[in-house]
Amino acid sequence: MATLDDLPLRDDLRGSNPYGAPEISVPVALNLNENPNQIPQQVAREVVEGLAEALGRSNRYPDRDFPELRQAFSNYLGNGLNAEQLWAANGSNEVLFQVLLAFGGPGRTALGFGPSYSMYPILARTAFTNWREEPRGSDFSLDPVAVASAISAHKPDVVFLCSPNNPTGTPLSLETIEVAYEAATGIVVVDEAYAEFAPAQFESALQLLPGRERLLVCRTMSKAFAFAGVRVGYLAADPAVVAALKLVRLPYHLSVLTQVAAITALKHVDQMLESVQLVVAQRERILSTLPSLGFLVSESWANFVLFGGLEDPKSTFGALLEQGILIRDVGIANHLRVTAGTEAEVDLFLDSISKLRQQ
Ligand code: PMP
Repeated sequence: MATLDDLPLRDDLRGSNPYGAPEISVPVALNLNENPNQIPQQVAREVVEGLAEALGRSNRYPDRDFPELRQAFSNYLGNGLNAEQLWAANGSNEVLFQVLLAFGGPGRTALGFGPSYSMYPILARTAFTNWREEPRGSDFSLDPVAVASAISAHKPDVVFLCSPNNPTGTPLSLETIEVAYEAATGIVVVDEAYAEFAPAQFESALQLLPGRERLLVCRTMSKAFAFAGVRVGYLAADPAVVAALKLVRLPYHLSVLTQVAAITALKHVDQMLESVQLVVAQRERILSTLPSLGFLVSESWANFVLFGGLEDPKSTFGALLEQGILIRDVGIANHLRVTAGTEAEVDLFLDSISKLRQQ
């Protein structure tokens, strides 16, 4: 078998690694920030009926611009948005990639504030965009002044702000987003993948969209909607941004099956989001229990918790894995990240980690 070295690979891809979350089959998977709950049976049945009907039309290409799905997303998001301001792709990763293809590219720069979502630099590199990263504060928060000065220093074409931030769970103030937008001359993307898990005081960047044509708010159905396997992410922005993304998307990128599944799910938003409260309750349980075991936890508005105070995170990760519990080493010294699973999964995690602590 040949190796990568035998292939005429792009020079800038030599020596790099693919996105690194280990795919290990375990009884308790708390590593990917998935929703541990299945979608409601009734919605699942309706999706299946919709898919059966759609298969009857699958000899034809799907609608390239999927107006019905975009209308459904605008209804869900509210904030006076209309379908022309919505866009979608196969997961928000693809949406973010399209953003970089349209607004990044050779000679251009994207900026993020680490630690943050590990795909940003990978997407940037794949889209031939230079990547710059500035550090967050010691509590992982983002200070508006620091954000503005980083933007003034790097003059990025695309800025990524993650709210709440993965992998830390940290909230982001609207003030920081406004300051970032004022300081930037390029695109400002607010990635709200975990928005639905945030407490009532969460303020979405959606309300900042009017009059800010360079501001983009990205969301996903992978987390709160428990639809990670279907692959649907979406974005709200000025209609001109949507026009730009149409220049780089592959034609017919959203299959007729994906469109029907998402439209059907969005007809039942309340039912689809019933699991959010269950997940939040488990997050709160993790947040309140880990400190009593001597760990440091970071405030989290998402469906996971980053915890520190680990002398040897790799050995804790390995010991949990031996018991069939997979969490995530996100590469932050002395820290690990755990997703809020079902009550039974969180029981197993807390029980195991407390026993490890006593050893
Ligand atoms: N943004 C953030 C912050 C994420 O954590 C993730 C997935 N973990 C994504 C985007 C991409 O999710 P998806 O492609 O499933 O929508």
